[in-house]
Amino acid sequence: MTRTLDGQTAHPSLEQQQRLREQALLTEIDLLRRTLVRCTLAIRDPAPAIELCLRDLRQALRGKETLSGLRALLPRLENVLAESEYLRASRMSRELVALSAQVARLEGQSLPPALREAIGEFARNLTGALPQQVELVALHKAFGDLQWQVIEHSLAQRNPSAGLFKRLLGSQEATPVLAITPQPLIDGFAEVLRALLSQSALPMKYQIQLRRLLGRLHGEVETDALIGLVDGLGELVLEAGEDQLQLLDFLTGLNERLAQLQTGLESLGAERAEGSALAEDLDQSLRRQVDDMQAAVSGATDLEALKQSISCRLEALLDGLAEQRSQREVRDLALTASLQQLSTRIMELEREAEVCRDQLNEQRREALRDPLTGLANRTAWNAEVQQALERRRKQGGELALAVLDVDHFKQVNDRFGHLAGDKVLKLIAEIIKRRMPTGGFLARYGGEEFVLLLPSYDLPAGRLLLEDLLSSIQTCPFHFKGERLPVTLSAGLACFGPDEEAADEVFQRADLALYRAKQLGRNRLVVDGLAESPDP
Ligand code: GH3
Ligand code: MG
Ligand code: MG
Repeated sequence: MTRTLDGQTAHPSLEQQQRLREQALLTEIDLLRRTLVRCTLAIRDPAPAIELCLRDLRQALRGKETLSGLRALLPRLENVLAESEYLRASRMSRELVALSAQVARLEGQSLPPALREAIGEFARNLTGALPQQVELVALHKAFGDLQWQVIEHSLAQRNPSAGLFKRLLGSQEATPVLAITPQPLIDGFAEVLRALLSQSALPMKYQIQLRRLLGRLHGEVETDALIGLVDGLGELVLEAGEDQLQLLDFLTGLNERLAQLQTGLESLGAERAEGSALAEDLDQSLRRQVDDMQAAVSGATDLEALKQSISCRLEALLDGLAEQRSQREVRDLALTASLQQLSTRIMELEREAEVCRDQLNEQRREALRDPLTGLANRTAWNAEVQQALERRRKQGGELALAVLDVDHFKQVNDRFGHLAGDKVLKLIAEIIKRRMPTGGFLARYGGEEFVLLLPSYDLPAGRLLLEDLLSSIQTCPFHFKGERLPVTLSAGLACFGPDEEAADEVFQRADLALYRAKQLGRNRLVVDGLAESPDP
């Protein structure tokens, strides 16, 4: 409702109500669009707080107060998204620092140049990495590769079998060297024993025997004694052979499980790329389990127990992966349904807004039209005059204005009734309309009065047109119920002066001219500022 100047309360018009409704619909559509965009972001990072927001969103969509619900929800959703992004970035920073420390430890090893260079490059990339853009799984994978290469290198350096056969049993020519210079050979043998001892998976009983062999390598060693030691080692290797076979089986199985795990981790990596916090949690739990496995491997003294422990942990890991996958599928389905609901609602609202717009346009057209004759009404006339003046201001040119009034129309009503009067008004409107020049504008000003606006018409041109109009009305045979109705018009014509802008004054001059035409006997035109026409 609005207040008028005299303090009265006025109800909004139908058009105002439609406009308000249309405005409200557009606001709602805009709000839903923005919410949809936020939801798309949220799905990339479904933290618990975001999930809560999405649940509230679903409720808001189902409830009656959709608009106010969404309005309250949007800022919350934005806050939660920003917070989650911040947490993720700080978590990544901590991960990067921890990883850098591990890389520094690798760099401290004695390594071949190519591997050293690869590790250096990895370290440089780590230093330059932005926490917001880090793909942690990819980084860990690359780091794991490097670690593996370092381990392979150090194993190759200490490979006991290569050293053993090369240095002790490999060549016939080695025997004389054995007799002449035994010390390097003793040192080499000791080195091999130490390398074997350094293998963490070596069962305790072999460790004890190896230590015993090593203990006998102090000081001067007789060649015979050395041969005895080599024999001892040979026996040890043979005895260990059976266990080694079991270990090989176990390692093959382990390898297969690790391959499965890696596939899982890679798919986790793909999710991480989409910013999934769930995947990150699982990733951390996997990392913990793997650390536990490493601890179990280093501390194991018994192959059977080790197999048991690692198998259990691997099963737990794979179960965790499967569980995470099914949870993700459920969540994806729910979110897809929510989004679908949201877009359906947007489409409905758009359709409603379209209908509203059409109705509003139709009402606007109706508001400017005279219902009886279908001509423009007085409101449309006022607007048209202003536009014509605006065009004239820019382009210049003549502009004429005429007022026409039906003569003795009251008598028509009195003699033939109002219905006949209405019919006469419609016919007059039709006849004038057909004779209107291009660019001219015709309106029913009120009652039995019509007005014409004639751009590019000066007084003489206007006069010709108006006289033609008047005569066509006079000569048109109007009949009602078989009786002839005499119908004539009187008219006043005026022209805008070169710089004249006041439409009211020009209208008044034309109206005065019309008044003169009535006085002079009707059925005639009087032109403002010209001598009156003689009687037709
Ligand atoms: P004059 O020649 O001096 O103009 O005489 P007049 O009778 O035409 O003028 P007057 O102003 O006395 O009467 C106009 C009449 O027009 C009165 C009114 O009832 C009638 N009229 C106005 N609007 C309508 C309409 O929409 N339909 C009908 N049937 N009559 C109308
Ligand atoms: Mg009148
Ligand atoms: Mg009249």
